[in-house]
Amino acid sequence: MKSLLGGKGANLCEMTNIGLPVPPGIIITTEACNEFYDYDRRFPPGMEDQVKEKLGVLEQDTGKKFGDPKNPLLVSVRSGAVISMPGMMDTVLNLGLNDETVAELAKSANDERFALDCYRRFINMFGGVVMGIEHHKFEHILDGQKKKKDAAFDHLLTAEDWREVIAGYKKLFEEETGRSFPQDPMEQLFMAVYAVFNSWNNDRAIVYRKINKISDSLGTAVNIQMMVFGNLGNDCATGVAFTRNPSTGENLLYGEYLINAQGEDVVAGIRTPMPISKLKDEMPAVYQQFADTCILLEKHYQNMQDVEFTIERGKLFMLQTRNGKRTAQAAMKIAADMVKEGLISKEEGILRVEPAHLDNLLHRRIDPGAKLDVIAKGLPASPGAASGKVVFDADEAEKLGNDGEKVILVRTETTPDDIHGIVAAQGILTSRGGMTSHAAVVARGMGKPCVCGCETLAIDYVAQEFKVKNTDIIIKKGDLISIDGAAGQVIKGEVPMIDPEISGELQEILVWADHLRTIGVRANADNPTDSTRAREFGAEGIGLCRTEHMFMAPDRIPVVQEMIMSDTLEEREAALAKLLPVQQGDFYEILKIMRDLPVTIRLLDPPLHEFLPNGEELAIEITKLRATNGDPKEIEEKETILKKVRSLHEFNPMLGHRGCRLGISFPEIYKMQARAIFQATAQLTKEGVRVIPEVEIPLVGDINELKITRVDVDEMAAQVKKETGVDFEYSVGTMIEVPRAALTAAEIAAEADFFSFGTNDLTQTTFGFSRDDAEGKFLHEYVEKKILPDDPFVVLDRKGVGKLMKIAVEEGRNAKPGLVIGICGEHGGEANSVEFCHLVGLDYVSCSPFRVPIARLAAAQAKVKQGGYISKSATV
Ligand code: ADP
Ligand code: MG
Ligand code: MG
Repeated sequence: MKSLLGGKGANLCEMTNIGLPVPPGIIITTEACNEFYDYDRRFPPGMEDQVKEKLGVLEQDTGKKFGDPKNPLLVSVRSGAVISMPGMMDTVLNLGLNDETVAELAKSANDERFALDCYRRFINMFGGVVMGIEHHKFEHILDGQKKKKDAAFDHLLTAEDWREVIAGYKKLFEEETGRSFPQDPMEQLFMAVYAVFNSWNNDRAIVYRKINKISDSLGTAVNIQMMVFGNLGNDCATGVAFTRNPSTGENLLYGEYLINAQGEDVVAGIRTPMPISKLKDEMPAVYQQFADTCILLEKHYQNMQDVEFTIERGKLFMLQTRNGKRTAQAAMKIAADMVKEGLISKEEGILRVEPAHLDNLLHRRIDPGAKLDVIAKGLPASPGAASGKVVFDADEAEKLGNDGEKVILVRTETTPDDIHGIVAAQGILTSRGGMTSHAAVVARGMGKPCVCGCETLAIDYVAQEFKVKNTDIIIKKGDLISIDGAAGQVIKGEVPMIDPEISGELQEILVWADHLRTIGVRANADNPTDSTRAREFGAEGIGLCRTEHMFMAPDRIPVVQEMIMSDTLEEREAALAKLLPVQQGDFYEILKIMRDLPVTIRLLDPPLHEFLPNGEELAIEITKLRATNGDPKEIEEKETILKKVRSLHEFNPMLGHRGCRLGISFPEIYKMQARAIFQATAQLTKEGVRVIPEVEIPLVGDINELKITRVDVDEMAAQVKKETGVDFEYSVGTMIEVPRAALTAAEIAAEADFFSFGTNDLTQTTFGFSRDDAEGKFLHEYVEKKILPDDPFVVLDRKGVGKLMKIAVEEGRNAKPGLVIGICGEHGGEANSVEFCHLVGLDYVSCSPFRVPIARLAAAQAKVKQGGYISKSATV
């Protein structure tokens, strides 16, 4: 009943129901809070009478009476929203005390000093929390008394001292509020209730709800609960504990307590608390009861609990329980352990681990035990951690990187011109740009740590240093820093790191996920290293092997340029002939690593100008050469290239001469690639390695584009088979990445053995957004203003792009039953998008190797949720 009673209240009731010792109390519902606002911040009619009536029941149960000078009932007043929320009103303890009842408390406790201490705490809390008097004003009075008595600690003050402090507090109260401290407990109570309701709409709470997308109409409940005292002597204590270690997940009680203390003394740090294990020695019987209670609570909630308790004269009271917050590591271990303990099912265990948590665990990360000197915070753009020397320039990063130095590239922001520096750096730090800025996207793609939008950094490229604003910290080029891309932290100096690996609980959970999921998971990999990692991380094939990266390698780019610069077919074929053996080598390696698993190889996709130097830079070089009377032959060569660059210039390269359009204009390019694939295939087949190549034609929008390119590929396969005398299997399919392909999928399926959704381009072409422009310029505003729910390049747009996918799946499979369909856009590694792919019936998702485990887990979660399974408490 969390929505009616608030989180705290509902759990208190539930603990009472299962027979745990909870001090009795009453709860004013969230409904009353909402009505309070309907009545313009007045108590709804009848509420006060109901509270008084229930208070009567409480008095009967406890045998005490509210405001009775003989046997007073004292209570705490605690706020309690549905979702625990910082910003809500702090708890007021000892409510019901006044000049009369304090005497009775002293008598019954046989301790005047204790009673007066409770009273002064109450005036302080009530004055601060309910009336808004600044806490330091109370502190000032207390300090004065301590100085006067030359007492270093509170406990050295006598009853007489407390009396003086109380007099001072009351005077302060009067000065600040213009009224005397309320002596009537009923008045105290309703003033406190009023303050709780009001705190629902204080600035802090409103901001917190906005950030966390919590509805303003939930309201808060008010818990009024009989006081129990942990400060009545040395057989009393108060403490907080987790039922398991929240940082490692280890199944051991983890917490702290203080003997002879009240409420928040433990967290306030007034005295150093003792570890919970000590309680075993000090109060063995109570400890046993507490340990049993924790086991019972875990059984009941089927989750790790975060509890508060108080021991009054050797008797245990439970004051709070809730699902405990935990680290990624702990979430994993606790979920796996609970499954093995039989506490939860595998399905439930799978849902307990957030895919985002895996992201955290699969990158090199900072040793959780390390002490860090955090100097700035930015956005946690790409998880993982790295240490290195600060450099401010991509060329320099590359130079140092090639010399084997570890560097962190620090820029205000990065552009595609910085790629070589990003490749060489251990991590990226930028002062501008969001989670989808160039630096963030590129770093995530490479699995490199990145902190971006770190606005407190003032970067000075000229001085080669950055300052941390509002501090005197200056970091110069060459200084060592570390970044934590999962926490968004910038740390001074080097930090101890631990390597990512799939082992232990993570391995167990992923194996369970593999058994549950029905959709396949492949990886996008363009080279042997990524292919090996893909297998290690559990990929069941390669869903996208891009061939352009192979063309970019330093030893190949001159040949590629030669091919582009060729004026005749003969010249071009000569250049391609040089590329053939290298390409064949590439495919040989990858196919061999991926033996027995399918490998989708996409033929050349980007426009040719991407392989040529930048036109403007070239023009500058030529001008310089001319001005300095440079070598005429070199000038002429550069001018020829520049002419070619200009002739290849496009107004909109994304929609220009690329993909199969290029393959149709220059069929010899695709023919060479097909030959390389098939020769590698024949070679491996001969060696007894089973390989499954899938040749993919990019950017098809019309069936005829596929038809014409496919003929060449099939002919090449037949030719290679004849030449080598080796028979092998292969398939030919297409990317579905422009809307027209999706809409004419029935036709296209006739010529395709498989479809693969290229959702990066499909999102660009469906929205008519160019990604770089959209993410750089307006997309964040769209998301902020809720024009779009998410960045569609991150979370697949189900309504638009998803609809096209559905059409393509239906039409494609109608035309060709059993047509294999996958996705290879970045969405293939994002949990929400994976769920959609599962729901529309794709055969597999494919994503970067680092995200393969995330996709495996997300795929299993999608299957479990589709079965109608509702988790008992999946959200931690
Ligand atoms: P928070 O949400 O900030 O933890 P709580 O309402 O849980 O606030 O209470 C603050 C402290 O007061 C806790 O240590 C809690 O155990 C203690 N406390 C609350 N109510 C009582 C009570 N009825 N008797 C004794 N201690 C209490
Ligand atoms: Mg609490
Ligand atoms: Mg594409």
